[in-house]
Amino acid sequence: MKSTAEIFGENVFNVKVMKARLPKEVFKEVMKAIDDDQPLSSEAASVVANAMKDWAVEKGCTHFTHWFQPMTGITAEKHDSFISPTDDGQVILRLTGKELTQGEPDASSFPSGGLRATFEARGYTAWDPTSFAFIKEGVLCIPTAFCSYGGEALDKKTPLLRSMEVLNKQALRVLKLFGNEDVTSVKTTVGPEQEYFLVDAEGFKKRKDLIYTGRTLFGKLPPKGQEMEDHYFGAIKPRVQAFMKDLNDELWKLGIFATTEHNEVAPSQHELAPIFTTTNIATDHNQLTMEVMKKVAKKHGLECLLHEKPFDGVNGSGKHNNWSLSTNTGVNLLEPGDTPYENAQFLLLLTAVIRAVDEYQDMLRISVASAGNDHRLGANEAPPAIISVFLGSDLQAVIDAVENDLPYNGSDKETLKIGVDVLPPLPKDTTDRNRTSPFAFTGNKFEFRMLGSSTNIAYPNTVLNTAVAQILKEYADKLEGSSDFTNDLHKLIQSDIKAHKRILFNGNGYDDSWVKEAEERGLSNSRTTPDAFKHFLDEKNVELFTSHGVYSKTELVSRKEIGLEKYCKLLHIEALTMVDMAKQDILPAVSSYASTLADSVLTLESANASAVFEKDTLSELTSGLTNAYNALNKLKEDIAQSEKIEDFEKRADNIKDVIIPDMDSLRSEVDALEASTDAAYWPVPTYGELLFGV
Ligand code: ADP
Ligand code: MG
Repeated sequence: MKSTAEIFGENVFNVKVMKARLPKEVFKEVMKAIDDDQPLSSEAASVVANAMKDWAVEKGCTHFTHWFQPMTGITAEKHDSFISPTDDGQVILRLTGKELTQGEPDASSFPSGGLRATFEARGYTAWDPTSFAFIKEGVLCIPTAFCSYGGEALDKKTPLLRSMEVLNKQALRVLKLFGNEDVTSVKTTVGPEQEYFLVDAEGFKKRKDLIYTGRTLFGKLPPKGQEMEDHYFGAIKPRVQAFMKDLNDELWKLGIFATTEHNEVAPSQHELAPIFTTTNIATDHNQLTMEVMKKVAKKHGLECLLHEKPFDGVNGSGKHNNWSLSTNTGVNLLEPGDTPYENAQFLLLLTAVIRAVDEYQDMLRISVASAGNDHRLGANEAPPAIISVFLGSDLQAVIDAVENDLPYNGSDKETLKIGVDVLPPLPKDTTDRNRTSPFAFTGNKFEFRMLGSSTNIAYPNTVLNTAVAQILKEYADKLEGSSDFTNDLHKLIQSDIKAHKRILFNGNGYDDSWVKEAEERGLSNSRTTPDAFKHFLDEKNVELFTSHGVYSKTELVSRKEIGLEKYCKLLHIEALTMVDMAKQDILPAVSSYASTLADSVLTLESANASAVFEKDTLSELTSGLTNAYNALNKLKEDIAQSEKIEDFEKRADNIKDVIIPDMDSLRSEVDALEASTDAAYWPVPTYGELLFGV
């Protein structure tokens, strides 16, 4: 058997492989392309392509594909074979430099949110050499960005790369102010913790709701839910253990640093955390991780649910986006450090993040808004829809001291002077563990916890990077000409803390009193996707993205359109699935049980036996059936109305205000019927079977 070290990265065309297989000069050029975003010469691209092809063919590949992330949220690929005919009727295996660096998938069936109407339908993909090529299912996958010929980004990756570049530029300006002459690049790093559910494949196959929508649309809670919290970090079941081992092996082969795995709070919920890496690579890896999870689960007779809310009444799944900034010299810029100089730089960056989150809270909320995530955010679950920043008591004490010109904890000085004083050590474990905070400082990074489990992390990170870049730009503009740097720095941090401290909140984010307090503080609280999206094109947001060239106005408009369209379509499918299940499976089953009961009543009474249970249940069921049927009809009528609304923004509102409440009423009627129906008649696997069945 191969060791983990041998397995790790065996399906990746990484630095080690390139070093071994490329001529020295070409290898150097590739490394330069990776480190400094320099384009590769066409000669070098040909050499790389050929080496890549040889490597892939040796590993049994016959096809290659450009692998990209269109705005659907999942990844796309179109396989081409390496085979190329020769003059004498033979074939050779070939990958040209041009095939490596540029592709032309037919873009017309990917969502473009109007970009297609205005611009050419065709798009092209362009190689992103910073993310290594890899082999998946015998196909060489080349990570690419996807753009229209007019240059508009048709994917999630291009804006992310732009935002990283913008942040790099502004962060370098700020670092210069602190004399970091050796730093030539700053990259954002991300470690996304991925939550998921595993259910038995047999049970899954019997539920149309899981098949069509990824979540259960009906189902009453079993007597035991998650209240005992005995699942969290509990012993992992052998079948799940086998899945996790297999999953790790598959991820390691792809060079993905999957490390920790444990059970989550809900029964049959689990989490996987990778070791963090540069954001664009982390994005690719997270997309791959989700795909591999689903595939490996099937091999084990399981289904992996990545939906944000597979089960009502049970915790949903999120993705914690651990985010930081790292220099090419290996310094984590959100590490507080232990000298006055390191502390000062840290505090400025910290303040920049605080201010960015405050000023662009609506945009951050939008970046994680989806039909699935609406079940978590704003539904009394982790975390709330209100964005706030948690610093932990030690760092909060420092911030308070700076704001009010006071001494900080344990100091005998009169006041805390940035750039002169040394901060007290900030113990890591006291900074974490406020699990209710949507945006928490956890010692040397921020953890953005509002992402849904199925979200592509590119978008929230694009927003975060750009917002922070904007604030750093303002800081650099102010401080670059300063003649009294230490003093001006202190004043800047102090005034920005004063101006943005409303976003700092260290209490319990689930508490109702926080909702009220947040409102008094003027923080926004968009509970639903349609509400959040109302701010998508606010002037401030458009200005942010266009001024830095991260999104053009048209690109933003297209993303809003696609987001709303997706929301409408998903909920439309959910509503139709409910109608289908209720009408074709559940109500008929309850009705058969009711008629069996009616027969029993006759039989029992003719034998002069008591039929109290049968009669009571029958009357519960018949009135329940009537209610459910009425709710079903109302939903059907409202769906028909909703389908007529052409404008997606209006339709999304209609869905939120009319369709979702209809779905909720139908569900509650059906769930009540489930409680009174003979289990043998119930046509789909129950929550108990799904949640405790693995
Ligand atoms: P836990 O949250 O369980 O205490 P850690 O805080 O060590 O564990 O890490 C959680 C996640 O944060 C991991 O995916 C880890 O790789 C990631 N992480 C740690 N440091 C950074 C960093 N500097 N930038 C981005 N992500 C990071
Ligand atoms: Mg965490």
